[in-house]
Amino acid sequence: MLSTKVDSVRLYKIRKVISELSGKEGRGTELVTLYIPPKKPIHEVIAYLRNEWGTAANIKSDTTRNHVQDALTKAMQKLKLYRESPDNGLVMFCGALMTNGPGSEVIVLREVVPPKPVKSFLYQCDDHFHVEHLRDMLREEKVYGLLSIDANEAGVGILSGEAFDVVNVMTSGISGKTRKGGQSARRYERGREMELTYFYHRVADHANRILVDEYKCKGVIIGGPGFTKEDFMKTEFLNYELRKNVIATIDTAYSGREGVRELVEKSADKLQDVRLFEEKKLVQRFLAEVNKPNGLAVYGLPRILSAIEKSNVEAILVTDDVDVVRFTATCKNCQTVREKFVPISKKTQATQELTSEACANCGSKEFVVDEADLIDVLEEKALQVGAKVEVISSGTEEGAMLKSFGGVAAFVRYRVAGV
Ligand SMILES: [Zn+2]
Repeated sequence: MLSTKVDSVRLYKIRKVISELSGKEGRGTELVTLYIPPKKPIHEVIAYLRNEWGTAANIKSDTTRNHVQDALTKAMQKLKLYRESPDNGLVMFCGALMTNGPGSEVIVLREVVPPKPVKSFLYQCDDHFHVEHLRDMLREEKVYGLLSIDANEAGVGILSGEAFDVVNVMTSGISGKTRKGGQSARRYERGREMELTYFYHRVADHANRILVDEYKCKGVIIGGPGFTKEDFMKTEFLNYELRKNVIATIDTAYSGREGVRELVEKSADKLQDVRLFEEKKLVQRFLAEVNKPNGLAVYGLPRILSAIEKSNVEAILVTDDVDVVRFTATCKNCQTVREKFVPISKKTQATQELTSEACANCGSKEFVVDEADLIDVLEEKALQVGAKVEVISSGTEEGAMLKSFGGVAAFVRYRVAGV
């Protein structure tokens, strides 16, 4: 089961692999996709690949044959490092990808422990990688409906994982409370009631289509100002399953689009397991700490790195679109490592700077340069000091707030003067 308890860093990494590989094409039918279920013995998979390797000898094109066999060899080598398949199984993509036009192919291998168990064994050798099954596994199963209604306006939204979306907004067209001249009070009331009933019908139709048919929501939160929402629910126009699964009925100041937003704000304590709310809480806690005179939060990469070095970090928050990479230059002679964190745009300049200076330890000018994603680096460093990394989606209000602090922040365990 995919729960929000699947680590945010792991999800980030899986998404990164999917986006890296999804548009990629092979020169021929030469990109290997492997989905291995948890119970499948690894040696059986290796035997299967060995057999495929043999079959590949019949491929007419020299390049394609070499690429397929190289990819299979690399996949087998990697699989040999596993004693058994991980709990959820394993997904592997391996194939020759161009780095700089035809002829520049290198064999790329990406392995992913999926967020849900792999159901059946799949081997495919194709002109693209089959990332779609992995993408399906990422789809959040807990989708909640949001419905905000008053006599004038209604909004239908969905809440899933770290995102919410207003899908539909409808207006009733019912004019205010003024009666037309010559109209009796009773007649006016009756007319208004009919109009309302018609509106409720429309809202329920849309909600049923969106929340039940399209998004298969597990529950719904109803809101709006005044009694219209209760009135609406009494009509029983809304799908029976949804009516059985009303998580909360919440009074809001607005209806329609704004009402849906307000519902998201006000339902945090009703839906504890939704990642969006976890992220909101983390960012709000950060903002509260930062605003205190001696708060236990820092931001800016240099301060965070220095806090990590002192083992003074409890958790690190980082937005999923942070565009910083770490370059390391390892001295070929004495293995002394120098590192530099730079925006991706300054890549070339940073490499030059790192390698132009002689090694501080031995004076050598020969280096091996390596590049790593900031989130991977932070996770590695955090692990060593018992801290946790929380990846925050950049698409939310909280994500935007964190970005205004540079996209990286941390909770520290104690306050150090000058930090
Ligand atoms: Zn050196």
